[in-house]
Amino acid sequence: MPDRPRKARQSRSATVIGKEWLSPGMVRLHFGGEDLRALPELTFTDHYVKLLFPPSGADYRWPFDPERIRSERPAAEWPVTRTYTIRSFDPVAAEMAIDFVVHGDAGLAGPWAASVEPGDSIGFFGPGGAYAPSPAAPAHLLVGDEAALPAVAAALEALPEDAAADVYLEVADEDHQVPVRQTSRTRLIWVHRGDRPYGAPLAAAVRDGGVPATGTQAFVHGNAELVKDLRRFLFVDHRHDRKLVSISGYWRTGLDEDGWQSSKREFNDQMESEEQAALT
Ligand SMILES: Cc1cc2nc3c(=O)[nH]c(=O)nc-3n(C[C@H](O)[C@H](O)[C@H](O)COP(=O)(O)OP(=O)(O)OC[C@H]3O[C@@H](n4cnc5c(N)ncnc54)[C@H](O)[C@@H]3O)c2cc1C
Repeated sequence: MPDRPRKARQSRSATVIGKEWLSPGMVRLHFGGEDLRALPELTFTDHYVKLLFPPSGADYRWPFDPERIRSERPAAEWPVTRTYTIRSFDPVAAEMAIDFVVHGDAGLAGPWAASVEPGDSIGFFGPGGAYAPSPAAPAHLLVGDEAALPAVAAALEALPEDAAADVYLEVADEDHQVPVRQTSRTRLIWVHRGDRPYGAPLAAAVRDGGVPATGTQAFVHGNAELVKDLRRFLFVDHRHDRKLVSISGYWRTGLDEDGWQSSKREFNDQMESEEQAALT
């Protein structure tokens, strides 16, 4: 069957209007600009955008037309995307905040966020999104490493005051904790990674925390290995209802986002077939 033509995606522009360090490893950028007025109503708490970066060595910078570059230049020169949660959005002021993990000198988005100054602009596609905590759920399980911390924090802000929520967040150490809203029935566990592999202490803490009660709605995101371990915990060990779980790998150690996105399907297929084998 011939390939279906790719639908052109609309890019938008956002200008940095403020910058604040939330911890030594996380920087919040505030964005404004007329294009933000055109965003649709944001109803999920894990809404994300795909920030557009010229690949390293490119001879162009924002503003550019991604579709035109794709049609006129070789693939190596096409813009690349990095996915980020909309931490908050104010539709009246048309302002959006994004919290970036600054994970050293590697990559595009982390170093950009660390060095950018108010007045700079960036392009993006989106938003997408799929999850919001249900007010009807009897309990919530929210689990994330630093990359998913913004989405977990946004979910906590959307919970009713009496919602029961077990929250597990992994950061490097105590200095990297950031304030998050808690309901009167939040049990918040900060997990300090230290020198251990990304996601490993977090998965262990969730397992140690016990079996989620029937009906618990879960949001579990972050490093791919964390997700693999906790899918097994939820779906294989405890047969938790899959419909109540939002779970996916946001990134994978040793791969940049392009490498992770292009191998994600194979990773997921392998993980799911191992789960099926363990269930039969
Ligand atoms: C739906 C979704 C929402 C996301 N929301 C956020 C968000 O709000 N904030 C956020 O910071 N990230 C978020 N992420 C994760 C982010 O897209 C990736 O971490 C991305 O790889 C970062 O791009 P980069 O250019 O900084 O590094 P890349 O060029 O992609 O990678 C360079 C190197 O850094 C490593 N690396 C990437 N991310 C991390 C990390 N977090 N810690 C340590 N090493 C890392 C890679 O494995 C690679 O070795 C989200 C991902 C998804 C899918």
